[in-house]
Amino acid sequence: MIEKVIPLADLRYAARMPHIPAQLQAPTGMLADTLSRPLHDLRISVTDRCNFRCSYCMPSEVFNKDYAFLPQSSLLSFEEITRLTKIFVAHGVEKIRLTGGEPLLRKHLEVLIGMLARLTTPSGKPLDITLTTNASLLAKKAQALKDAGLQRVTVSLDGLDDAVFRRMNDVDFPVADVLKGIEVAHKVGLAPIKVNMVVKRGTNDAEILPMARHFRNSGVVLRFIEYMDVGATNGWRMDEVLPSAQLLERLQAGFPLEAIDANYTGETAERWRYRDGGGEIGVISSVTKAFCGDCNRARLSTEGKLFLCLFASQGHDLRALLRDGSYSDEQISAAVAHIWQGRSDRYSELRAALPPDASVPGSDGARRVEMSYIGG
Ligand code: SF4
Repeated sequence: MIEKVIPLADLRYAARMPHIPAQLQAPTGMLADTLSRPLHDLRISVTDRCNFRCSYCMPSEVFNKDYAFLPQSSLLSFEEITRLTKIFVAHGVEKIRLTGGEPLLRKHLEVLIGMLARLTTPSGKPLDITLTTNASLLAKKAQALKDAGLQRVTVSLDGLDDAVFRRMNDVDFPVADVLKGIEVAHKVGLAPIKVNMVVKRGTNDAEILPMARHFRNSGVVLRFIEYMDVGATNGWRMDEVLPSAQLLERLQAGFPLEAIDANYTGETAERWRYRDGGGEIGVISSVTKAFCGDCNRARLSTEGKLFLCLFASQGHDLRALLRDGSYSDEQISAAVAHIWQGRSDRYSELRAALPPDASVPGSDGARRVEMSYIGG
């Protein structure tokens, strides 16, 4: 019996107060960390709540009726999110991913999308705005999101077999409603649509070929994600990871594939396409093929803490600067630059060099932040 760790809520409150450099430098649109990785993507968690209880992210025995979710007052307002996003864009961010928890649970999310869609990069380009959702509310909200300026969407779907899917989301949610959400998203013109499947060996790996068969020739890009040791509550074990290399072998047996080039540096998915023109798939191999070398992603938690890695154990409290009221955008911008320029995170690379199940040096047992708090 694997013993699950019950997180103490206080972890969410542990954060460094950002340092404001004495010298304020104007942003240049290019900000590199200690490994020369330019800041490019900003993932914004707009809620820590979700209506699913996927065991690899928000296990129900931990995130139960007694779990203290964040009060509304502690969440960043849409104005605060937009103000911070402007600052990050001036430093080179071009892609915004809205996440959660389940972002569509945040009321009036289309209003925020409208505010972000009005921002442009220093060179005048519109931002690339996308969202990761479990699609439980997508059928209802897709049109409003599209009208507000959302361009595309990523849907989390871990199987087509209804029993398997209901077991994985652990709230008995039917797969048909997720497929309906994808269909409506397609109809309203959100594109491309990507579907992310987290593969847990022994739980849903039998769904790999049915998922591939279902989404082939549909225009949807299906990505298979290795089960990760995110947070401290999912009881992760290496023997429940199906390495992408083995997954690709299974797929190749059914549908011959060929590798294709990345769309851009820092893309998390390794891209493949069906040789017969049936479309594209991807594999995201954080455990067996780390991609920290190009990682250009910053994460903003629901209450304004900046995290530099999905596996971090502490953030930087930007909300404190916002709500203090005495800090200018220039000062907050300088603080963001100072934080990113000091970044050296490469958790997956370090993990890969260790025996399975060993903890990464430097994490000194500090509990990693929950993925549901900073977004995947
Ligand atoms: S482990 Fe951290 S540094 Fe590496 S790719 Fe993931 S988020 Fe980036």
